[in-house]
Amino acid sequence: MHHDPQKLLEMLQEGHARFMAGESRHPHSSAYRLHQLVEGQHPLAAVVSCSDSRVPVELLFDAGFGDLYVVRTAGNTSFTDTIGSLDYGVLGLNLQLIVVMGHEGCGAVTAACTPQEAMTPALQDLVLNIRSGLDEEGVGSELDRAFRANSRVAARRLLQGSELMRSRVAEGTLRIEAACYTLEKGDIEWLGPVSAS
Ligand SMILES: [Zn+2]
Repeated sequence: MHHDPQKLLEMLQEGHARFMAGESRHPHSSAYRLHQLVEGQHPLAAVVSCSDSRVPVELLFDAGFGDLYVVRTAGNTSFTDTIGSLDYGVLGLNLQLIVVMGHEGCGAVTAACTPQEAMTPALQDLVLNIRSGLDEEGVGSELDRAFRANSRVAARRLLQGSELMRSRVAEGTLRIEAACYTLEKGDIEWLGPVSAS
């Protein structure tokens, strides 16, 4: 089953519209579907989102088993593990759409915008990495801008970190779209695709 990236994005948006309208169908959520998938997976799209418990990706897009290839880290960061996971998704699963979805009220981004006291070394790495991206975008401590900028940075860093993704985006067989989930209303603000140039 092949679709163009634009069509895949529309399918995600339709699932989210069902969720927003209170008309979620909870597709592909049965044990039967799980059994069907034993032989392999053919997800529609990849989503990079935050570990935050308020951002359950499958519920937001009204999707089920086998539908979405999801990478979640605090602050939806594009470290090597995220890039490697998506390289596999693109190479091994032929994914053509990656959505990088940050969210309002993100604790990791907030930590990058406000002075922190005690942090572990790994947590400090994560927060400093987010901070460096916000600096690249010229964002100081304005949280509303920071939540959105962090999504754009993470999307861009996927491309910067992956020759494979750069070439697929350049040839038009992969789209990487940044987005921000608004938390309070459940809306998703679409921030546009990143380009390979
Ligand atoms: Zn978060």
